[in-house]
Amino acid sequence: MTDHVDVSFIRRITDKVLAGGDVEFAEAEQLLSTENVGTLSECANMITRKFAGDVVDVETLVNAKSGRCPEDCSFCAQSAFYDSHSGISRYPLLPKQVIVDQAKKDQQGGASSFCLVCAYRSPPEEEFEKICDCIEEIKRTLSIDVNVSLGFITLEKAKRLKSLGVKRYNHNLETSETFFRQICKTHDFSDRVRTAKIVKEAGLELCCGGIIGLGETPLQRIELAFAIRSLRADEVPINILIARQGTPLAYQSPVNPADAIKTIAVWRFIMPSVILKIAGGREIHLTDQQAMILKAGANGIISGGYLTTGGNKIEEDLSMVKSVGLKTKQS
Ligand code: SF4
Repeated sequence: MTDHVDVSFIRRITDKVLAGGDVEFAEAEQLLSTENVGTLSECANMITRKFAGDVVDVETLVNAKSGRCPEDCSFCAQSAFYDSHSGISRYPLLPKQVIVDQAKKDQQGGASSFCLVCAYRSPPEEEFEKICDCIEEIKRTLSIDVNVSLGFITLEKAKRLKSLGVKRYNHNLETSETFFRQICKTHDFSDRVRTAKIVKEAGLELCCGGIIGLGETPLQRIELAFAIRSLRADEVPINILIARQGTPLAYQSPVNPADAIKTIAVWRFIMPSVILKIAGGREIHLTDQQAMILKAGANGIISGGYLTTGGNKIEEDLSMVKSVGLKTKQS
């Protein structure tokens, strides 16, 4: 009986979304509570194909400046509060040629976009200039899309990045407003919202997502998705916590794979047309179910490793995309 109710409810909400309607908060909550992962995934896949097509965005990252971030995000191995115990290598801004060479290699490997990431609260003037120089060089010599993630940013700097041809600026909300204090005390949720709004105001595309598995409730995962939807994000990365030694979340219980897949699927119902990108934690938590998420709402992947952990090689991910009958920009 429960299954029957679940299936008819999931199909009714699917029809509503396919017809252009918005999912209500209570409906999203009910979707997330289903045990019928199969039907939920199948319906999220229908929504993805209708509103986001069958091209998977394959993005690579360069950690262009690692560690010593003055913020205290409790999941982050790059925070200065934890980075001497987290085992990461800390280094200042990489030389331009190293970054440009990495972008070139990733483009040749089949990536559609390249994100230059620095562990800053906000970019210092002198380093911002060097980063702009680097972006100019990539735009001049390569055709890969360039995205950046530099922490809090002013409107003036965001406009400058836009003028250089940057496509998207990443600034995650990380978790819901009601849980944010539990994971960060050096800045507020509203600081993150402010930067996200600046990104849109500057005419850049907004990449804005978060992390699941920090200890938040299912309801707070829905709250986070609705907050992101209200910011009109173009791309939404969803990370699954990799519990890192030396951080306060080192012993956090892992997310159940079914819960991760359900969260991805329900976020797709909430945001039908975004690039919903599965980022950190996919290899560790989803193991042999990674391909499944591309049929359960996700239409983007971070490939070739993350900021402080390794990941699948690009060629492995490209064949995974192909194996489920989808395409990449290059194919
Ligand atoms: S602001 Fe970013 S880099 Fe800094 S501690 Fe938080 S998550 Fe890590």
